[in-house]
Amino acid sequence: MFLWSYWQTIITDLVKVPDKFKLPSLELEKLHQAESEDSHRQILERFAQDLPVTNRTIKGEIRYCEQCQIVKPDRAHHCSVCRTCVLKMDHHCPWVNNCVGFHNYKFFMLFLAYALLYCIFVVATSLQYFIMFWKGELEGMDKFHLLFLFFVAFMFAISLNSLFFYHCYLIWHNRSTLEAFRPPMFRTGKDKDGFSLGKYNNFQEVFGDNTRLWFLPVFTSTAVVGPQVDVQEPLVDPTSIV
Ligand SMILES: [Zn+2]
Ligand SMILES: [Zn+2]
Repeated sequence: MFLWSYWQTIITDLVKVPDKFKLPSLELEKLHQAESEDSHRQILERFAQDLPVTNRTIKGEIRYCEQCQIVKPDRAHHCSVCRTCVLKMDHHCPWVNNCVGFHNYKFFMLFLAYALLYCIFVVATSLQYFIMFWKGELEGMDKFHLLFLFFVAFMFAISLNSLFFYHCYLIWHNRSTLEAFRPPMFRTGKDKDGFSLGKYNNFQEVFGDNTRLWFLPVFTSTAVVGPQVDVQEPLVDPTSIV
């Protein structure tokens, strides 16, 4: 289960931002020719009026990605490593060489959980030999292997423990790591709980509504979609129903 979740976290491709967020060439040209900040803002406002976006920049403007030339969907951020905008981006994780976001957040959580259980299992089963080593009752070179095994499992268990419970807290409140550091901005201002749908719904948004699939690394995450969003295109936009 640990390897399967780890594998899924690594290989799952990003979910592409739907095409409707991409500026058509005519709009793009207008944007490049905009003479003032105000007209730049107005062009984006006009284009985004039919899009289900509620997040704004710190200045209250439509969020636009210069690199991808798209209006950023709510909760999406540009990843400089993946060189694209990532839906419900949590963070770019070097341990899995992939962004953690809408496409693999459930897998990432299961990976943390199974890795933690695995480390606890190794610590628990090697503890008695570690105590024997401590008392000087172990002989031969093998004792160093045992020592290494115990310490590595112990150190990983500590760091995985804090990471896992931190992400449980984030799911509980429906926040990404980025949003925990900088609360999302809405028309009405900052709101760190702007995406929260209630604790159980927040959990279901990541793990789905089929209890039997909660513990398996198969994609069951859901997105609350607004009336203007195509259901086939997974889009994280809980606020569009608020
Ligand atoms: Zn981008
Ligand atoms: Zn990335």
